[in-house]
Amino acid sequence: MAEIINGKELAQKIRLGLKGEVTELKNNGIIPKLAVIMVGDDKASKVYVRNKSKACEEIGVEFEEFLLDDTTTMEQLLNLIDELNNRNDIHGILLQSPIPKHLDINLAFNKIDYRKDVDGFHPINVGKLSIGEDCFISCTPFGVVKMLEEYNIDIQGKNVVIIGRSNIVGKPLIQCMLKKNGTVTVCHSKTQNIKEITKNADILIAALGKAKFVTADMVKDGAVIIDVGINRNDDGKLVGDVDFENVEKKASYITPVPGGVGPMTIAMLMTNVVKAAKNLEK
Ligand code: NAP
Repeated sequence: MAEIINGKELAQKIRLGLKGEVTELKNNGIIPKLAVIMVGDDKASKVYVRNKSKACEEIGVEFEEFLLDDTTTMEQLLNLIDELNNRNDIHGILLQSPIPKHLDINLAFNKIDYRKDVDGFHPINVGKLSIGEDCFISCTPFGVVKMLEEYNIDIQGKNVVIIGRSNIVGKPLIQCMLKKNGTVTVCHSKTQNIKEITKNADILIAALGKAKFVTADMVKDGAVIIDVGINRNDDGKLVGDVDFENVEKKASYITPVPGGVGPMTIAMLMTNVVKAAKNLEK
């Protein structure tokens, strides 16, 4: 039976540490502040934004929300980002996705000052990550790395298989795992014989968004299983990309959904906001 990687507990520990760092910053006259832009009326986004605001409140980070309606033009969105880039009281800017289809999200991400890009989506941060320079790392991959570190799971020399190659999860994970000297293989929707690949994984990271896609027969005995997926099953219950009940019996470590990668993502966002505020101090 696998050991469960408790993301909820770990995230709480990280937030507690950050609370102390925020107090220190405040003593030096810096009040860290996160600005969140939401365009349109996406229900899931509202929940995510509420969770982020709660996390900010808990550690003493100020939070300002900018709600734009779904008729907002690209020019209006870019102007708002510009305004926030120029505000000295704001250290982190986050544009909640998705945004309405008529808007170009990449153009908007590129407009955010990379020094305030706490989501790590700006091309400068993406580039810096790939050449190993200090940068903001996309929060979910950053959370995965942190989990493995905290559970003393060695990545060096291990076969790391990532399922999914999105810009926000899969691709930055490639760089993170390479940096830790993992031997990285990436699978995607066009990959053939995926089971033959996943069965070789010492560390298998599922980030594709398909409920219970990873079944026990796809997993090597003793593998470490990280489940990034968040899906709803027919009963409306949250499930990951991994068939937890059966895979748990074969794995050495496994993350649950909920309570695994999800809370870590928010903790790493808070880590990035505090880092942005500290950068200002330098
Ligand atoms: P995404 O942009 O839809 O990307 C999904 C990736 O999975 C794509 O690269 C796609 O391949 C690949 N894929 C889809 N079907 C596949 C299949 N049958 N076999 C192999 N690969 C397949 O998704 P995302 O934004 O990366 O998110 C992935 C999952 O993580 C979602 O469930 C999302 O809700 C969750 N998520 C969780 C957190 C968290 O905090 N826990 C944060 C972000 C995302 P192609 O590139 O070929 O299309």
